[in-house]
Amino acid sequence: MRAGPSQEDIRRHNLGALLRHVHLGGPISRAELTAKMGLNRSTIMALTSDLTAAGLVREELPRETGRAGRPSLVVRPESARVYVFAFDVGPDRLAVARVGLGGAILDRRESVRERGTFELGELAGMLAGFARQMRRKTRADTVCVGAAAAVSGGVRKADGVVRFGPNLKAEDVPFGEELGRRLGLGLPVSVGNDANLAALAEHSRGVGANVRDLIYLHGDVGIGGGIIAGGHLLGGHDGYGGEVGHMVVNPGGRTCGCGAHGCLEAEVGERALLESAGRFGAGQHGRDAVRAVVEAADRGDIVAQEALSRVGDWLGLGVANLVNIFNPEMVIFGGMLREIYLGSAAQVRTQLNLNAMAPQRERLRLRTSALGDAATLVGAAELAFAHVLADPLEVLARANA
Ligand SMILES: [Zn+2]
Repeated sequence: MRAGPSQEDIRRHNLGALLRHVHLGGPISRAELTAKMGLNRSTIMALTSDLTAAGLVREELPRETGRAGRPSLVVRPESARVYVFAFDVGPDRLAVARVGLGGAILDRRESVRERGTFELGELAGMLAGFARQMRRKTRADTVCVGAAAAVSGGVRKADGVVRFGPNLKAEDVPFGEELGRRLGLGLPVSVGNDANLAALAEHSRGVGANVRDLIYLHGDVGIGGGIIAGGHLLGGHDGYGGEVGHMVVNPGGRTCGCGAHGCLEAEVGERALLESAGRFGAGQHGRDAVRAVVEAADRGDIVAQEALSRVGDWLGLGVANLVNIFNPEMVIFGGMLREIYLGSAAQVRTQLNLNAMAPQRERLRLRTSALGDAATLVGAAELAFAHVLADPLEVLARANA
């Protein structure tokens, strides 16, 4: 016979669950926590006092209740005191943020990245340098409890090695390990695929909050994806799941960075759009170049309109395949795909009507990212906070040691 969970296991679980409510939902009264968590008042009081003593939350009288009687204390995250570092490594951009418990971005640095090379030491050194600058500005009583990075590539779940990243030019790079060493905080750095993490971000704090089945599509140079099924991210056996950009939609079509032909990324990615619009060439790339095509189409430029329409057809076909297989409640377009979708929504809808099965598309909602350019960073921060939410007191004790 297996022993059930111990009192200590239950307490740890409840502390994490309470902190998660405060972290994701913001300030909340003890009375609401009692109702939401299905625990009695004295248990909630004991849990909040433990978290308060640890410096993770604080309790305050509500500003206005409008009700008679003794007001219930409001529990708030200690956002300014407890934080994580979130990193984002994209083909064109590096970003670092200091994110407080509760999800507030407290500080942020961004830098342009030269495409086409991946110098591990240099890159990790630069990111760690940004983090150190931010750290120097913090108060003495602040504590960093985690760090995580979003990278544009396939990341091995077991050890955070970036196995492939054709758009980053990274292959089998021990990125988390190197960044952790350079940061020198004695903390491991978790690493995740950027689109997977952005999907988690939209699911926990964005347009997909409370949506249990969603697909997030992220456009950068290529197309990434994150699939949330039944409230969980589908990572696959090794963590490489959700690479929807390499779903073949046009056999024998354009050559893809992965070596195959006609992948969604090859037909919809930045290069396909810019080439179709006759705008591919020296110096013309990135978000601004894509935005310029969408704006030109808006102004009536026929070449730009045709390019967008072509890309929208392939995008719609890819979404139709995903909708047939996963039956999501919502598909979210993020990164560069936000602009592309807004400029080609009619084509996307037409292809869905032609290729997705009626029951799967009847209640489907198509949305653009609510977190915008911050989605990948916010997702990285959530990955970094995951350890804290799993075992708040243990993580804090280690961070303070
Ligand atoms: Zn491919």
